[in-house]
Amino acid sequence: MPPVYRLVCQGKCPNPGCGTPIVLPRQSPVGMFPGLLSHPTDKPTAATFLCTVCGQLFECSPEAFPPHRIEIRSPDQQLPLLWRLEFECVIENCGKQKPIFFAFDPIVGERAVWRQVVKLLGEVTCGKGHTQKLLPKMASVVPVARQS
Ligand SMILES: [Zn+2]
Ligand SMILES: [Zn+2]
Repeated sequence: MPPVYRLVCQGKCPNPGCGTPIVLPRQSPVGMFPGLLSHPTDKPTAATFLCTVCGQLFECSPEAFPPHRIEIRSPDQQLPLLWRLEFECVIENCGKQKPIFFAFDPIVGERAVWRQVVKLLGEVTCGKGHTQKLLPKMASVVPVARQS
């Protein structure tokens, strides 16, 4: 059987002890930086990304996930989705929202993804610097981009 290729976006966890390649759907940069399509000349602000292997959080730009061609085992092989953890700060009068992006298996349901994220991230910090425990009532996980 001839090799099968997919065009994806691929980055890498910056934690020196991890360095896991992070494969994302091709449309991910637009999913993470919505301004890219309407204002291609604007410099997008950084997005926060979570490595689901080691739990490292890092800031990234669209250039952190350049297009890449990977070889897959079969045309049916499922590739990771881009997910977004959304949470709203619980500090009174703050309510600031901050998304955290990550790559995760498309087959598992949202509850399994949530459990994995909570295992990795006990605490989150809002855009104003308030650190708080990550609780289901203030947060949710949603798939943002899938492989086409
Ligand atoms: Zn990592
Ligand atoms: Zn806050």
